[in-house]
Amino acid sequence: MDGKKLAQEVKAELKQRVEELWTSKQIVPRLAVILVGEDPASQVYVRNKRRAAEKIGIKTVDNLLPATVSEADLLDLIYEYNEDPNIHGILVQLPLPAHIDEAKVTHAILPSKDVDGFHPVNMGHLFMNMPHSLPCTPRGIMELLAAYGISPAGKEVVIVGRSNIVGRPMVALMLNADATVTVAHSKTKDLRAVTKRADILVVATGRPEMITGADIKPGAVVIDVGVNRLADGHLVGDVQRQTVEGVASYLTPVPGGVGPMTIAMLMKQTVEFAEKSGQDGY
Ligand code: NDP
Repeated sequence: MDGKKLAQEVKAELKQRVEELWTSKQIVPRLAVILVGEDPASQVYVRNKRRAAEKIGIKTVDNLLPATVSEADLLDLIYEYNEDPNIHGILVQLPLPAHIDEAKVTHAILPSKDVDGFHPVNMGHLFMNMPHSLPCTPRGIMELLAAYGISPAGKEVVIVGRSNIVGRPMVALMLNADATVTVAHSKTKDLRAVTKRADILVVATGRPEMITGADIKPGAVVIDVGVNRLADGHLVGDVQRQTVEGVASYLTPVPGGVGPMTIAMLMKQTVEFAEKSGQDGY
C-alpha cells in the first residue's frame, strides 16, 4: 500500500481547500509548532511537518525553546496560543525534557486546537464515536484502508500495541468502523495464535521485524506502523517484509507507508480547524 502516493494526493486536495478558504473567508490556516530542546529525531520530524505545511499554504509559527525552559513558561506559551484566534492548531513535539510533565502540557492545549488528538477530551469523544480531533497515525491508517477499498466492517482486526498515540485510538477507530477488535500487547499469551486470526493486522510495537509470515493468516491486510533504525542505519518496520509479502494481500512499506499519511493527517486537521474557525467552540 503506497502511503507516500496517497499522502501526496491528500496534500494536493488540501492545497485547494486552503486556497478556497482564503478566497471565501480570507483565512490562512496557522499552526503553532513548539519544539523543546535539540533532540535530532524531533528536529527532523518538526522540519518535515513544517515543509509539508508550507507546500500546502499552511503558515507555521515556530517556537524553538531551549531544553532548560521551565514548565510554567511552556504552559504560558500554550495559553497564549489558546487565546489567539489566528492560531488554529497547536503542536508540541514529544518527547519533552524530563523536568516537564508531558501530560500537563498536552492537557493544556485547547481541545479545539489539539491537532495531534492527544487531549483526553478528544480521546473521550473518539471512544464515544463522536470524534473531533483524531490522533494522526490511526486516522492515516483508516484513510489508507479506505483508499484501497478495504472496509473493516465485520472483519477480525487485531492491533498489536496499546500506546496512547497509536494502539488505543486505533481500537476506537476500528470499533467505530464496525470491526471486531482484539488488542494484543507485551503480556499477551500466544501472540501468534491471536495475530493469525486477523483479517486486518495493525502492528505498532517498536520491535524490529517481530511479526513474520508465520504470524499471519494468508490474505491478511498488514499495516506496519513501526519505524526502527538498525545499527547499520537501515530503517525497518515491526513486520518482516520478506516473509510477510508472499502471505499478506496488502502490506504497508517502511518507509513510505504509514509515516507519510501521519503527516498528511496533521495537515488535514489543521485545515479542518481553520475551516471551522469562528464556529461554536472554535
Ligand atoms: P510504545 O512503545 O508506546 O508502545 C509499544 C506497544 O507495543 C506497547 O503497548 C507494548 O506493550 C507493545 N509491545 C512491545 N513489545 C511487544 C511484544 N513483544 N509483543 C506484543 N506487544 C509488544 O510505542 P508507540 O505506539 O509509540 O510506537 C510503536 C512503533 O510505531 C514505534 O516503532 C514508533 O516509532 C512507530 N510510530 C510510527 C509512527 C508513524 O507515523 N509511522 C507514529 C507513531 C509511532 P505493553 O503496553 O504491554 O508494554
